[in-house]
Amino acid sequence: MILEIVNHEYQYEAEKLTRLFYPNEKIKVVFGSAESVDELRLRTSLTPEEVRAELFDKDGKCLFSEQSEYKNGDDRELLLMTLVFGILSRHTGYVPEWGMLTGIRPSKLFRSLGGRAREEFLGTYLVSEKKTALTENVARAEEKIISLSKPESFSLYVSIPFCPSRCSYCSFVSHDMTAQTVKKLMPDYIGALVKEISFTAETAKELGLNLESIYFGGGTPTTLDAEGLKTLTDAVSDSFDMGTVREYTVEAGRPDTVTAEKLRVLKNAGVSRISINPQSFSDRVLRAIGRKHTAAQTEEAFLLARKEGFGNINTDLIAGLPEDTEEGFRQTVEKTLSLNPENITVHSLALKRASYMGEDGVVQARKNRLCSRMLDFSYEKLTASGYTPYYMYRQSKTLGNLENTGYCKEGRECLYNIFMMEECHSVLAVGAGAVTRLKAPHGAQIDRIFNYKYPYEYIKDFDEILKRKKGIAEFYKNNP
Ligand code: SF4
Repeated sequence: MILEIVNHEYQYEAEKLTRLFYPNEKIKVVFGSAESVDELRLRTSLTPEEVRAELFDKDGKCLFSEQSEYKNGDDRELLLMTLVFGILSRHTGYVPEWGMLTGIRPSKLFRSLGGRAREEFLGTYLVSEKKTALTENVARAEEKIISLSKPESFSLYVSIPFCPSRCSYCSFVSHDMTAQTVKKLMPDYIGALVKEISFTAETAKELGLNLESIYFGGGTPTTLDAEGLKTLTDAVSDSFDMGTVREYTVEAGRPDTVTAEKLRVLKNAGVSRISINPQSFSDRVLRAIGRKHTAAQTEEAFLLARKEGFGNINTDLIAGLPEDTEEGFRQTVEKTLSLNPENITVHSLALKRASYMGEDGVVQARKNRLCSRMLDFSYEKLTASGYTPYYMYRQSKTLGNLENTGYCKEGRECLYNIFMMEECHSVLAVGAGAVTRLKAPHGAQIDRIFNYKYPYEYIKDFDEILKRKKGIAEFYKNNP
């Protein structure tokens, strides 16, 4: 489709909003009038008196036309986007539940709006009543965790971008450990990571920072063998002052990587929280998404972790997976509840890969509605079972533009998730693909330091990583 931008500078917003309604289509942005048109065309324009949005079919026939006059002080961008939203909703019959909100942190926005938040969500951003209520609950739950973070706080993220095989829907940079080339890299990767951990700890010490939470993510950190995990967890506890750590999480996401030996290493290192991720409890769905384990293996791994003394376990589920049905998803939620985990995180499937795309709008709309019903069911069922939504974020290209929500039992919020998502304090991140997010202790300034994305680059140019990491001290010097 063609998006015409006439006399205004809201191209980015208009394109983003249009993409909500046409996620699978190529949107050609044209400044002024398109020269040749034989496709759907959305014209957005601004005159000294009014904003206007018009939709034309491929023969040039006007399907919808809306305009709004504005006065000095009116938000012209918002007026124009409201017109676009209205026209595209009517044309497609699809009303996004998150309305015009495209940001990834709705609860942060909600808090920043203070007493006007509900009204703005419903009336200005056109967010549905259900999603507004969800955001309100999450914002409330986050507040008490946010207050734990102090100016001298920081968290540590350790990146292990390896998995035992690659899931078909994966959007992370994760390397299949079965590949010989990847296996060969491992000793050097761990060696470099130990050095970076030690360097980062020195920096934190010099700056007088307190470590609040640790998160090993990836990938799947438990893809490493027990020895590799021990080397890294030892490096962390030898390098950092662990006295201030409130939470220590390691993702053991893939049940096929979980062994008693590895769990003992983690337990002995002081890991207080792990993730064992069913995604689905249907073997048919697991096969369809390329997970090389069964539902029974998930349950075994979960029970093994309980037996080894883990009292805080998260389970990730995904709504909208290929081959899944509404009934199948209900059974997954119920089976998960029967295991009684402390955290359940419900994700909406993200359509990152071209192979999932190119479906026609009708198929897409049906999947969006199915995913929405699955999320509604999980909200109803989990809240009725004593879980509270405490963490939520949105990512691009999810089915129906829907959200990911973390639920927990009372007092079992994952601190790291909130600290990181709400940008409460700096997250010093180590390893390939890691991104350090520096937050000014007494201000809003955020800077990022990027490590190399791929393990071979990370190992080869490791000196450059340490050079970049000097930026941490520099940042704190400039933002005391
Ligand atoms: S386990 Fe997670 S990180 Fe690993 S391949 Fe599957 S989706 Fe990607």
